Amino acid sequence: MINSRRTVDDLKELRGLTEDENGAQRIAFTPVWNRARAWLREKLESLPVEVHSDAAGNVWATLRGETDRSLLIGGHIDSVPNGGWLDGALNLLAGVEILRRINAQYNGKPPVTVRLVDWADEEGARFGKSLFGSAACSGNLNLDEARNLADKDGIRLPDALTSVNIDLERALESHSELKHAAAYIELHIEQGPVLLNLDLPLGAVLGTVGAERHAITFHGQAAHSGSTPMNVRKDAFLAAAKMSPEIYQIAKKYDGVCTIGSCTTKPGIVTSVVEECRITLDQRHIDAAALSHMLEEAKQASKIFSEEARVTVEWEPLFQIEPILFDRELIELCAEAINETTGKVHRLPSGPLHDAAEVARAGIPTVMMFVQSLLGISHNKIEDTKEEHIELSVIAFDKLAEKAMHFIARKDKE
Ligand SMILES: [Zn+2]
Repeated sequence: MINSRRTVDDLKELRGLTEDENGAQRIAFTPVWNRARAWLREKLESLPVEVHSDAAGNVWATLRGETDRSLLIGGHIDSVPNGGWLDGALNLLAGVEILRRINAQYNGKPPVTVRLVDWADEEGARFGKSLFGSAACSGNLNLDEARNLADKDGIRLPDALTSVNIDLERALESHSELKHAAAYIELHIEQGPVLLNLDLPLGAVLGTVGAERHAITFHGQAAHSGSTPMNVRKDAFLAAAKMSPEIYQIAKKYDGVCTIGSCTTKPGIVTSVVEECRITLDQRHIDAAALSHMLEEAKQASKIFSEEARVTVEWEPLFQIEPILFDRELIELCAEAINETTGKVHRLPSGPLHDAAEVARAGIPTVMMFVQSLLGISHNKIEDTKEEHIELSVIAFDKLAEKAMHFIARKDKE
């Protein structure tokens, strides 16, 4: 039997060990992170699992089954500075509890191999690049970029890694861990308000949204604010300002999200018409076609508004990532597990990226389960989830693990 209460107790124990008055301090590659990982290994000692650290510093605990084909359960013990008690840790400790249940139920020999992974540096809090361990494992880590990363004290990532016995040049060898991987599941706090607003404890995650980020610069002409008649102005701000209500329309039409996060003007003085206005646009959607329509419509609108204001417009790409969809069958199994636990289910995309997205990119059938976040807040010491919801999430996630094991066994017979 799964003991969901034990997961809450484990989380509190970890919290006591790694939190100060400002929140969790389990920043990757630091002494507190090492202490948290040593504590995790102690928790695993009572189980017949083989534990090792891979070339990228990910820790794997393997319970061998009747076949090498593996169910992977992932989490991350690292936190942002002043972080919360659940982000990353809930997934991991629910995974520990599931290993205990599976080990007891199958007398140490489950039908498939079950592996718990603690990904290294999911948060990227120190070097500004998240998903280090899972990206190395999936093969998507850009080594050229990683070699040049440094923290705010000028310490380079390769040197920080060396201090915890990880050789950046060999990090991609972590990929061999996926050799027998047949499914990957991850439980996570939602970190947003969707489930809270629906008054639902749990949700099945469809995938992680894609993003298009661009800077849009309107070029007009500076002119005296007193002597220039309105009908002859080339007002770059006028065109930019019209984009603001427009992106709300576009987001509504496609059920995505669009944000103008910054706006700067030149010359930026109270007595001049704006010569140049630069805004940034961030658009996100779970559907690649909808995302590209949203971008196209924003471009069209910027052209119309710049003609109306007699200015020119220029687009500059800043960042782009495609939506990463999870496995259809596993999403349905996740929905089933939630339904059996709470009687209600909601399917939703994830705004934030997670390690699961990297595993999915590596071609492993993947799904995530979300549990409601109180206040919709994370990366903050006030991050919280009701204890009864934590327990429900462990119970539902355990059901998903069981279903995923049978999913693997079934696939192998096909
Ligand atoms: Zn996380």
